[in-house]
Amino acid sequence: METTSEKPAMDTLRTLPGDDVRQIMWRFADRYDLQMLVQSARGVARGPVARLVAEGARNSHDWTVEKARLLQAFDESGITAVFMDPEHGGFVEGPKNTALALVAFELSWVDGGAATCSLAGNLALAPIHERGTREQRDAYMRRAMPPQPGEDRTISRGAFALTEPLPYVGVETGLLSGKLRVVEWEEGKEPVLQVDKRGRFITNIGFANFVTAAVDSGDPRIKGSCMVIVEETDPGVFDRGTATRKLVHQLSSTGDPVFSLRVPASRIIGGYTVKDGVIVPRYSHGEVIEAVFRRTRVTVGLMTSAKLLSAVEPVIRYQRGRFRGGESVQPGSPRYELGLQQREDVLHRLVDVWATGEAGTSLGFATARLFDEIDPLERRKDELFAAQGVGGGTAQLKAMRRLQKDAIEYLTLTAKPEAARDAARTEALGADPLIQYMIQDSLVNVLCPAVKLWNTGHGATVMREAVSLMGGYGITEDCPGFLGHKWMDAQLEATYEGPEAVQRRQLTLTMVNELFLEQFRGWIVEMRRIASERPGTGACTVATAMQLWLWALVHLQAATDAEGDKLYHGTRQGVTFPLADALCWLLAARYLILDVLELEAKGPQSPVVAEGLPGLLQFMTDLCHVQSARAGGEVGRICAELVYGYNRHPAWDDLACGSCGPDAAEVLQVVLPGVKTPPGADGHPTKAGPCVQFEGMEGFTQLRLRLDACLTGARLAKDRAATALTKVMIPEALDYPA
Ligand SMILES: Cc1cc2nc3c(=O)[nH]c(=O)nc-3n(C[C@H](O)[C@H](O)[C@H](O)COP(=O)(O)OP(=O)(O)OC[C@H]3O[C@@H](n4cnc5c(N)ncnc54)[C@H](O)[C@@H]3O)c2cc1C
Repeated sequence: METTSEKPAMDTLRTLPGDDVRQIMWRFADRYDLQMLVQSARGVARGPVARLVAEGARNSHDWTVEKARLLQAFDESGITAVFMDPEHGGFVEGPKNTALALVAFELSWVDGGAATCSLAGNLALAPIHERGTREQRDAYMRRAMPPQPGEDRTISRGAFALTEPLPYVGVETGLLSGKLRVVEWEEGKEPVLQVDKRGRFITNIGFANFVTAAVDSGDPRIKGSCMVIVEETDPGVFDRGTATRKLVHQLSSTGDPVFSLRVPASRIIGGYTVKDGVIVPRYSHGEVIEAVFRRTRVTVGLMTSAKLLSAVEPVIRYQRGRFRGGESVQPGSPRYELGLQQREDVLHRLVDVWATGEAGTSLGFATARLFDEIDPLERRKDELFAAQGVGGGTAQLKAMRRLQKDAIEYLTLTAKPEAARDAARTEALGADPLIQYMIQDSLVNVLCPAVKLWNTGHGATVMREAVSLMGGYGITEDCPGFLGHKWMDAQLEATYEGPEAVQRRQLTLTMVNELFLEQFRGWIVEMRRIASERPGTGACTVATAMQLWLWALVHLQAATDAEGDKLYHGTRQGVTFPLADALCWLLAARYLILDVLELEAKGPQSPVVAEGLPGLLQFMTDLCHVQSARAGGEVGRICAELVYGYNRHPAWDDLACGSCGPDAAEVLQVVLPGVKTPPGADGHPTKAGPCVQFEGMEGFTQLRLRLDACLTGARLAKDRAATALTKVMIPEALDYPA
């Protein structure tokens, strides 16, 4: 192990957090199956995947024999089988969101393309898994399982085709040009359909044996849209098209395929009914992709966070070794031992990278766990509604809207102290699976787009910081940890499965659901309580920033701009999108704090973790504080801009305000300490006085002031975390490429 000469103090970070720490923080310490899975995935990532990258396989966008060997590695290590239920040959019992998230995390720790290659196969199966008929599920899941010893068959791999050549499907998923028509329909027999679909940027297309494709009706005998399965052996054209000339994720295969195939109507995902001579698919393509993406997007978010955390070790090693080998730099000297780590800025920036990675993973894994909880509830909800004769889609939404009041009542009851609750009513509502589903659903509907948006979007920006910390090395192929590749890859992760605008648009709708907001109010109380017990976490800042965000949301929902136009409105993305961004900062900071508290609670029970726990906790708490402060700053900035920014400047029409108009130079002088203040209102040279005080804003102004004061100690925390980076032990060399 490499270390600096100074012996680490007891209360500082000794080593980089290992598996035992992560198992506690991400709550899989009691899941031996997941721990084994992590090891298998890591073996593939840091073995064959890392070697491929090091050998330059990313220099071509073509799907090569060497890259194809990855598929075999996925099959042999169990990665391919993670998605499958035991009845289809899989080995993970129950919901698999956390399992899949862990696999993606491990693979993208080394290479995002390899992770995507594995995930895209699951994405192809997901429509069938989520909305397929039993027959479809049984057939395609079994075929996608790697053959077991004694089985004489080849594995079937899939691709998912939604996106179409311009000007069709991209962000706007309703603009479908892919068509489904009836070509044969003999009396009493199953109809034969013609599928015409062109894809754009379709992952896994270089080797896919089947494709789940979104198509619209091109025939009066078919109603609406649906997703349909096409196979390479279907009669017609299954053209894989040309490879996409990608700058990123080159270990996955991407291309623009063309399909013109005949398939039986039983390939419509979820099945169909026939009404008045018209084929009515059970699910529209929109309903299928909604069920699919709401799970898979979480995994993509975690991929970018893995990159940030993976950057910590290579950057520390680079910083420490930066000046070694020079004639005048002797072992034992600060320049030799610490290298660049003698400089505060590089340490502070690395603290930011690390804190962002931690917050993203905490948010991502919490969301994956929540999906594991909601999966059985969702099936129960479907069964209950089916028993009541309530169909899918809008019928279910209407039925749930009627239960909204009860669900809010349950949240209000549980927020009270036990003695003050109506126990019988609380118990009855708590035992109602529909109510419980609705509450969880309102949460995942916010968390899923938040993970995808914040982890990838902000993550890509912070990944640039990580690259910059490696200097010129950062933007070469030789950069340890492949950080340059990871920076670009992060941008794709922010784009595919719906770019940031899609996530912001979804948040615009889901974050104003009263069921979510009621839980959010509970979190303010929770953060205040944590703040009083663990002030070092920055929970106080998060609580105040949450209040400020809520104040701004309520205000903007009611307020109009200077022209009298509504502010919080679907078309007013300038208002709704930044508010969605602000919320993401809060969520990420909160989940990091909760994970660190879990580490504090459970760490002592693990002999491995207990050993260095005080120092680890101090460091992680400091990261929480850093992240909370940054989140508070972002929320304050965004909310202030929105709350004030749509008012007309009071002095605008009569007199130019000194701070914005031609008198700016004078004002600059005014605010500089020691400069004589000219006569006039409070040193502000306008007749109107302070230009930003509007009626009814006092609450906001007070919260802003309080938020600033909440930052107390945040920079001390950053300094401590930075010092810890100079002392933490790291291995002699990176464990990949081999
Ligand atoms: C390497 C790679 C692999 C991919 N794999 C697959 C795959 O396997 N299957 C598949 O179906 N697709 C796949 N895609 C496609 C990907 O999902 C789309 O590229 C993505 O959804 C964005 O669509 P677009 O490129 O048409 O962007 P556009 O829709 O043209 O968007 C362009 C920009 O405009 C913004 N924008 C668009 N509409 C709005 C709006 N209403 N409000 C505000 N802003 C808006 C977007 O945020 C974006 O910044 C892949 C893409 C790539 C690059």
